[in-house]
Amino acid sequence: MSKDFAVIGLGRFGGSICRELSQEGMQVLAIDSDEDRVNEYKNIAYHAVIADSTDEDTLREIGIKNFDHVIVAIGENIQASILTTVILTDIGIKKITVKAQNDYHEKILNKIGVDQVVHPERDMGRRLAHNIISNNILDYLELSDEHSIVEVKAGKKMVGKSLIDLDIRANFGCNIVAIKRGRDINVSPSAEDALREDDILIVIGADKDISRFERRLVIDDD
Ligand code: ATP
Repeated sequence: MSKDFAVIGLGRFGGSICRELSQEGMQVLAIDSDEDRVNEYKNIAYHAVIADSTDEDTLREIGIKNFDHVIVAIGENIQASILTTVILTDIGIKKITVKAQNDYHEKILNKIGVDQVVHPERDMGRRLAHNIISNNILDYLELSDEHSIVEVKAGKKMVGKSLIDLDIRANFGCNIVAIKRGRDINVSPSAEDALREDDILIVIGADKDISRFERRLVIDDD
């Protein structure tokens, strides 16, 4: 696992990544062009520097090449985000994660060949929307444009029934990959066991199939 991280852009998103990684004991270099932001992270990150990441010489001087993973968390200034990413790619950074501000930004980042593009506001919005539809939908993770993993509470319609009774794969085309029961996670759940009220099912499948599954079995009618 890579241990040396650099975070460029210390807004709410980059700042929270920097804080969390540091709390987990990772060595983080925090970079921002704004002096106040950098001062805020002086005592949190391993090292914090004021720098304009669109300047290749500056990034080289900082020694960015030595970092295994660089996170670009400049959102609003899309031009700066793209330019920074291109420079990091040219320098040969092994792993680059970039926060996209909108779909066009994301498309460009994908074209540049960024390892990981994140879209926190959109993803959180989608997760929240699923949770608002039903309290039984606990989490939602997009795997691709058409596939997701959802975490759902065994709703009233599932309690007391086994996976064989529900036959989710045949009926909805999606798969139960694990069942959480209390602190245990069973990754090869028994097909005969009756589901209990507090069981949490991890379901993987195509979005359209998951939607059908949610409407028919997860969302309680009352
Ligand atoms: P967030 O949504 O994460 O809170 P924000 O809206 O506060 O972000 P952004 O404009 O997305 O702020 O930028 C995040 C940070 O990136 C800011 O602190 C900004 O100073 C920094 N930043 C912007 N351009 C550069 C650059 N060229 N070099 C280094 N840091 C930059």
